[in-house]
Amino acid sequence: MSVATAELVDYDDVIATYEPVMGMEVHVELSTATKMFCGCANRFGAEPNTLVCPVCLGLPGSLPVLNEAAVESAIRIGLALNCDIAPWGRFARKNYFYPDQPKNYQISQYDEPIAIDGYLDVPLDDGTTFRVEIERAHMEEDTGKLTHLGSDTGRIAGATTSLADFNRAGVPLIEIVTRPIEGTGARAPEIARAYVTALRDLLRGLGVSDVRMDQGSMRCDSNLSLKPVGATEFGTRTETKNVNSLKSVEVAVRYEMRRQAAVLNSGGTVTQETRHFHEDGYTSPGRSKETAQDYRYFPEPDLEPVAPDAELVERLRQTIPELPWLARKRIQQDWGISDEVMRDLVNAGAVELVAATVSHGASSEAARAWWGNFLVQKANESEVELETLPITPAQVAAVVKLVDEGKLSNKLARQVIEGVLAGEGEPEQVMADRGLALVRDDSVIQAAVDDALAANPDVADKIRGGKIQAAGAIVGAVMKATKGSADAARVRELVLAACGQSG
Ligand SMILES: [Zn+2]
Repeated sequence: MSVATAELVDYDDVIATYEPVMGMEVHVELSTATKMFCGCANRFGAEPNTLVCPVCLGLPGSLPVLNEAAVESAIRIGLALNCDIAPWGRFARKNYFYPDQPKNYQISQYDEPIAIDGYLDVPLDDGTTFRVEIERAHMEEDTGKLTHLGSDTGRIAGATTSLADFNRAGVPLIEIVTRPIEGTGARAPEIARAYVTALRDLLRGLGVSDVRMDQGSMRCDSNLSLKPVGATEFGTRTETKNVNSLKSVEVAVRYEMRRQAAVLNSGGTVTQETRHFHEDGYTSPGRSKETAQDYRYFPEPDLEPVAPDAELVERLRQTIPELPWLARKRIQQDWGISDEVMRDLVNAGAVELVAATVSHGASSEAARAWWGNFLVQKANESEVELETLPITPAQVAAVVKLVDEGKLSNKLARQVIEGVLAGEGEPEQVMADRGLALVRDDSVIQAAVDDALAANPDVADKIRGGKIQAAGAIVGAVMKATKGSADAARVRELVLAACGQSG
């Protein structure tokens, strides 16, 4: 149930009395080809229970086999978060029953995580950064997905039927846990959102996950407690589960600050519990929080310890790219564009594509124009992300080169790109197959001009008589006859010359 707004403390009053302490736990599904401990495909959106096998269904006698690619992704995430990588660590069994988990335990890392003691310098809107310390990042497996039918809320309470889909069971997960985030004051909600945003961008830049909060491949739990201003001891915290958009992260933190302040101001105590986040902006009580003892963790006997050697870690360290927001700042300066233009490119998901196109030889202006206008429009028409369009930066650069060399007009270039998108091959191939090359041969254009003048004797006479503006009709006829493959300015010159005018 929602706490009525009147029962919440005004935000400014919360800040005057209390200091918020946050903690963020973010689960990220890795985009490996296969699951964590079996060969089943790791793919979103398949028919229910089609991506399963005895291992991820927890059938008797099945044994897990560790996915090395997932371990490498975990190490890269740890390195990108400035963590130490543990040279040795075991998986653990986290024991609990839930119908989305056929083994009745989750294979996770408990006291021996792969990555520990890191930090992330989170960029804020005002240009400053806020350091969030990372306690750990550990590997685990995802559960299946339950769909509850018959209740108004989609939750299990009141449901008449529940459906289980185990396609997600065993998908590799990384859980990234911060240390308590203190000293944010009034900026706590903003910093929570900025942290999750930065983490999303970082993971996307690493190419380890598609980090889609809307599809659940990135999920955030936000912990919050309040302590009186100046106090050293933390208050009791609540954990708001599955806050599934960047905006919701900010809303959930702000709401919990106002709600807990109301509880404390009225002389009550905050209950340690998990809370559900509701999309209309409030949280409600969930279950009281389990402790680690409840899960009876013990080392997983069916898997060998993970022991990455130093050489592997160093090799993976070389693959960590520049932080995406620093790269963007540098790129923006290189390209000489305004904050606004840059923001549009970022929002369109075009920055990396433009940069890659530039690295294939295109000018940044041309690359921006194609990705930021024409291709964004094509992506919107097909309702896909820009980066999933079936055209590569190298192909766009090739089209730009053909335009620069005068072999294509911009209009013909659009048709070439449409051909590439339609799967007709490389730009040169599309150009040849569709007959799209700009005609450079004057004799071809001259023949079309002569034909057009002969077909329009009245217009020809007007031009000969000095009405140069009448030439437009002949130019149009020639462009039509050559299917737009002639250079209009050259056509006009030839029309005027044929009629004894100098232009
Ligand atoms: Zn499987």
